Amino acid sequence: MIILLSYKKNTLLFQYHTLLNRQQNMKNSLFSFVLILTSSVLLCPAITPFPGLARAAVAQNALPSHTIALSFDLEHSTLSGTSRIDLPKNTPLALHCGPLTITGAILEQEDQTPLRIKANRKNIIRLNPVPDSRTLLISWTMAADNPFASSNLITKNGITLAGFWHPMPEQDMLYTLEAILPPGFTGISEGEQSSTTKRNGQQQFQATVPYPLRGLHFAAGPYSVQALQYKNIKIYSYFFPEDNHLAAEYLRKAAGYIKRFEALIGPFPYSRYSIVENRLPTGYGMPGFTLLGQAVIRLPFIKDTSLGHEILHSWFGNSIGLAGSGGNWCEGLTSYLADQSFAQDKGMEYRKHQLLRYEAFVHPDNTMPLSDFSGAGDNQPMAKAIRAIGYDKGSMVFNMLNKKIGDAAFFQGLKELYVHKKNQRAS
Ligand SMILES: [Zn+2]
Repeated sequence: MIILLSYKKNTLLFQYHTLLNRQQNMKNSLFSFVLILTSSVLLCPAITPFPGLARAAVAQNALPSHTIALSFDLEHSTLSGTSRIDLPKNTPLALHCGPLTITGAILEQEDQTPLRIKANRKNIIRLNPVPDSRTLLISWTMAADNPFASSNLITKNGITLAGFWHPMPEQDMLYTLEAILPPGFTGISEGEQSSTTKRNGQQQFQATVPYPLRGLHFAAGPYSVQALQYKNIKIYSYFFPEDNHLAAEYLRKAAGYIKRFEALIGPFPYSRYSIVENRLPTGYGMPGFTLLGQAVIRLPFIKDTSLGHEILHSWFGNSIGLAGSGGNWCEGLTSYLADQSFAQDKGMEYRKHQLLRYEAFVHPDNTMPLSDFSGAGDNQPMAKAIRAIGYDKGSMVFNMLNKKIGDAAFFQGLKELYVHKKNQRAS
């Protein structure tokens, strides 16, 4: 069921960082971040890892397309999937199949007999480039045996595919996802357009992603869906029925964050954004949606903290992705502009807690330069120390930069960064 709520423009108060001098020379500002990231300073906390999907700056007609089709066996916590990967001319492929059981793989090329393909010992399919276009067809199965370790869950209470669940290429592709939904389930994935149609008595979900991604995430469950229109952006909540009473406030807050960050950085990158509840305890920000654990969503402070952090990843982390080297700068910047800024609004002692965390967890024998930070999930060894560096120290580096060059240059630099690096990767 979709309920439309109205957004009242004047119900939220925002503190904007105003631009005082747009003419200031920006070459000295944001773009020196890369150099500064390698210095060693202190910093503070953060909230959630994000999986780091991003778009690439590649002409779309040169990109492979990847169509995935799924069906689920809830009783046995398994899925069956097929992939169709259309490779343009002269395109190599390295396709990691990880924990998937490949049940068939065939390579088709015009005027040639279809070839049966096998993965190597590491369960990777590698194809050398050839002058013709080709199509690789794969079928696989996957068991979601250990949801807390794999981030994949397939049960009658909900489905989450946030780990390794489909053949994963080493390059970005254009994705289409189709899934047969269990009765009563609603699905959500990346993409600007998704639909659910009834076909042969089954609910068929389809999502098309108009920009290149390395891989997809998917969630489905007995969701109650609400929506709120904010300017030209449709904001949705996909909450379990028992938590649906929380949705309206989440939607209102989400609209507020989008308004706040648009003023700070530039237009929101997507035409829709969804807040999706997960049975697993996650806090991920993907292109077009955030996947928040049920226990997380019920915490009263999350909509004042993590929600804004994940929405900010729409600009930094998703629209502008991470380059292959140079470290994960997005978490430091997101912590600074979201967590630290929100705390500042309330006069909270954010920096003190950053320093305390850094002092408590980071020592000479476990420290590292910021450029070595790539991310840290809660289950990862040394996660607190790594996060104290990547989030807290990273955030404080951006704070130092802001203080050094002033608000005008700093925030104009953010806008310039977004204009020039949108849909690309940056380091
Ligand atoms: Zn984050």
